[in-house]
Amino acid sequence: MPKYQILTYGCQMNYSDSERMETYMEALGFDKTNDIQDADIILLNTCSIKQKAEDKVLGKMREIRRLKKDPIVIITGCMVRESSSRYSEKRDPLFPRVKELDVALRTEELPKLAELLREISPEMEIEDIEEESLEDYLKIDATHSSHNSKTQALLPISNGCDKFCTYCIVPYARGREKSRKLEDILEEAKKLVENGCLEITLIGQTVNSYGLSNYDKEHKTFENLESEPFVHLLEELDKLEALQRVRFTSPHPKDMSDQLIDAMASLRTQMPYLHLPLQAGDNDVLKRMNRPYTIEKFEEVVKKLRDRIPEISISTDIIVGFCGETEEEYQNTYDRFKSLGFEHAYIAQYSDRKGTTANRFMKDDIPTETKRERWDKLNELLKVHSKDALERFIGKTVNVLVEDQSDDLCTGRCENFKTVQFQAKKPLLGKIVQVRITGKVPWVLKGEMV
Ligand code: SF4
Repeated sequence: MPKYQILTYGCQMNYSDSERMETYMEALGFDKTNDIQDADIILLNTCSIKQKAEDKVLGKMREIRRLKKDPIVIITGCMVRESSSRYSEKRDPLFPRVKELDVALRTEELPKLAELLREISPEMEIEDIEEESLEDYLKIDATHSSHNSKTQALLPISNGCDKFCTYCIVPYARGREKSRKLEDILEEAKKLVENGCLEITLIGQTVNSYGLSNYDKEHKTFENLESEPFVHLLEELDKLEALQRVRFTSPHPKDMSDQLIDAMASLRTQMPYLHLPLQAGDNDVLKRMNRPYTIEKFEEVVKKLRDRIPEISISTDIIVGFCGETEEEYQNTYDRFKSLGFEHAYIAQYSDRKGTTANRFMKDDIPTETKRERWDKLNELLKVHSKDALERFIGKTVNVLVEDQSDDLCTGRCENFKTVQFQAKKPLLGKIVQVRITGKVPWVLKGEMV
């Protein structure tokens, strides 16, 4: 039986997709291997957010070229535009760049894989499974293998994006936003909880616009609900008694409604943590990025969150050096980053991506050195914020879901998504335990079990 290996790059959405790809590959009759030397099929689930992310995949090709087995190479994820094989008439633009490539596959077209593999290798034994639509792609059972324990799971609730930020390739790579049916999500959540899952992280490109996309409106899927679709979903999940924690990522600031903030403040399973991407703290830059909110609006959302959930921790994403970013515009971002008190952040230097609106119509005109300086300065500020944020936990008792235990050192996350470490001899993997915080090292809280 042919063996396959999936190599996953990028965000949680990709890790979650790989869990569905595993199920699909098994259904086609292939066996999983973790040894690349042993693989007959290598599937690279790629990220395209920065040039570096693509370089990693292209670098992997050098290793693949040296393998004895000459495996079939499939690239899927955000680097792909056109599902095709090396023999297709209309091929993905990756083919001339990657000579090892046999199949390019758009993620949501996973069910086309069998047909493309038959084009590449007609003699290969492949089980027949029914062709399915996008909705069915998300219906494929996930193996939920991204986490070490059965107690945590990623649960995709939508795919694609309608927002078209000018720097981003996702709407082109994944297509327009489509939400999964509420019943399907709840059924998957119930199964997870029955199998011992304590924490579910809902994922989607703009997770809180669940049920609000043009596609959803056209299909009238979410009519007659008393709450907004995303809030309704959180309410339904909250009814699953054994489920302890529900997180979601990443929400869009535009869709952070009062109703959602109320739900976050009142539902039992909601945690006092939110990752809310700001991207820039200057209104002109936000406009050029096609981010449909102002900095004042963003500040209003943060204020409401802190009024309703005083203990909340908020993290963000920032891009420095976006097209035309002046010193003054950058300074505005720096000042807002400071005043908004983000406890953590993913700070990126702008990377021009082919096919995006910014690539087509704007100039990537900020010198690399300037981008680097702006990035450094913001990271220095982040270190101070993170240190202050950790300090406020010292002396407090938090609940930690243990994600790793080796040599008696337990590592997990508390309600506020801070990493916590403590010593314990008895097996605690996958359990929620109380820990008193006694100190900190960079980015991590240290404590002892109560
Ligand atoms: S919201 Fe913007 S950054 Fe996020 S996936 Fe959509 S287009 Fe990309």
